[in-house]
Amino acid sequence: MRTKIVAGNWKMNTTAADAHVLATGIRSGVEHIERIETIICPPSIWLGVLAHGVIQRGQYPHLHLGAQNMYFQETGAYTGEISPLMVKEVAKYVIVGHSERTHIFREDEELINHKVQAAFAHDITPILCVGEEEQSATSKETVIRELKKLIDGLELADVKKLVVAYEPVWAVGTGKAATPAYAEDVIVHLRTILPEETRVLYGGSVTEENARGFLALPDCDGFLIGGTSLKLKPFLTVCQYADDAAQAGGHRSLHN
Ligand code: PEP
Repeated sequence: MRTKIVAGNWKMNTTAADAHVLATGIRSGVEHIERIETIICPPSIWLGVLAHGVIQRGQYPHLHLGAQNMYFQETGAYTGEISPLMVKEVAKYVIVGHSERTHIFREDEELINHKVQAAFAHDITPILCVGEEEQSATSKETVIRELKKLIDGLELADVKKLVVAYEPVWAVGTGKAATPAYAEDVIVHLRTILPEETRVLYGGSVTEENARGFLALPDCDGFLIGGTSLKLKPFLTVCQYADDAAQAGGHRSLHN
């Protein structure tokens, strides 16, 4: 049985005060939502303060912090970057290969692969984003080719721990989510090269209105959410739906 995840990617949003208020609201809101893992990925500058204050690592077993990015080297002359050693002190997860990193910051597949390897080497779980640029008849093939390159060289034990976020680029931040059937089709295809333990999330314009459609999918283990994660009530509603789906056994894989 794979535990469902609802991860919120705050991107480059929130002041210190906003981050405190939002994280505190999420902490209270998910206190009784225990069948899923909720992950908050704030800007890296707030990770330390949230880890030592609102979230208190270990105190809330179902609530975790994730970094939005990191470099793969441990220390050195890499101005502006944060390292796995730093992330490890404050977060359990790290988002790697988000489409905004590949588009705006020109990260390539080799760099992303190094980051995934570095995360595992430091006991951080990567949330690895994959997704096609445009919706087409060959989307599935494109995404599986990308995933193969990004996980190249990983041990099977690590692939089992990996979290894959299927995020069609055309759906991220556009308000145009994929249909659940479309997402399921791609995710089932991705699962052909993944062990059954690997969790696969959907991301791309998830809202409280469309979330339940994805949660009904047998092969989708939850969400990576951008915009909606900045709105407390809708985000908590999605977490509650995921918890309900977990209770109903809705996350049982076709392969289990
Ligand atoms: C994301 O940032 O990973 C994302 C899916 O954003 P949004 O939910 O806003 O589309």
